[in-house]
Amino acid sequence: MTAAEHLLVVVTGPGEARSLIEAEVAHPQLSVLDVGVTRGDGIFETISIGAGHPQALDAHLDRFARSARMLDLPEPDRDLWRDAVQTLAARLSEHEEAWVKTVLTRGIEGQPVPTGWAYGTVSPAFRRERTEGIDVVLLDRGLRSDAPATSPWLLAGAKTLSYAVNRAAVREAQRRGADDVIFVSSDGQLLEGPTSTVVLRRGDVLSTPPDDVGILPGTTQADLFAAADQWGLRTTIEPLTPDDLGDADAVWLVSSVRHAAPVRSVDGAARPVDTPLTAAMNGFLRARRS
Ligand code: PLP
Repeated sequence: MTAAEHLLVVVTGPGEARSLIEAEVAHPQLSVLDVGVTRGDGIFETISIGAGHPQALDAHLDRFARSARMLDLPEPDRDLWRDAVQTLAARLSEHEEAWVKTVLTRGIEGQPVPTGWAYGTVSPAFRRERTEGIDVVLLDRGLRSDAPATSPWLLAGAKTLSYAVNRAAVREAQRRGADDVIFVSSDGQLLEGPTSTVVLRRGDVLSTPPDDVGILPGTTQADLFAAADQWGLRTTIEPLTPDDLGDADAVWLVSSVRHAAPVRSVDGAARPVDTPLTAAMNGFLRARRS
């Protein structure tokens, strides 16, 4: 990866009109007083780019706006952010797989102007995860599944910059000899991965948990469910528990950049991997041009 493949556009910033400025990623851009850094007070999206085409861009922009509302941030200027992502995507078009991250923070403490930027780079290779699969552990997230209703200030289901907990969970998985995590609510509901949505197949039905248990609505899951017909599958969104993982014919963690990673073990117990369907899903996800 060369420096030129890390590209940056500054979308909003203190003292600037709302505009799109191409900037040099190697140069300092951010104030040390920005609450995005000092408090993790902001939101982000990570959008996969297939041969220069942002994938599920509308769904990502919808979710960016949803996260902004949940954090009482100003509504992101949709056209400006679309432009920023497309500008970066065009610059990454010679790469089969890349990604762009959009970030919006509350800005500098005490000033009313949010800070926004987007940057992009080529994706790492996920061949092993997509074909051989991943080992996961179940971890208690420590929140009940009704937390979004009873305690909305916990921001369950918002894509905030405060991902230190998610990273700590992955380190815990690694300490246990696994690759990734499926969070479970304190009242026993299956939630999501730290950066992914849980999808399982039972017979000819794909299932995923509903957003209202406090998880992020997944753009990758939504695209897969919209395409399920072509694989002869139906879909349901319903509350799930760890027992449903045990009964499933196949389980995946799905997300924008890694796409569909089949789960080959849960807490050390081997799970069946549906190799043909996994390949079909990843072929479909990689080929998306919008
Ligand atoms: N859940 C969480 C907590 C995430 O961070 C992500 C993506 O990063 C997802 C689910 C999957 O969302 P998407 O498919 O839109 O990447």
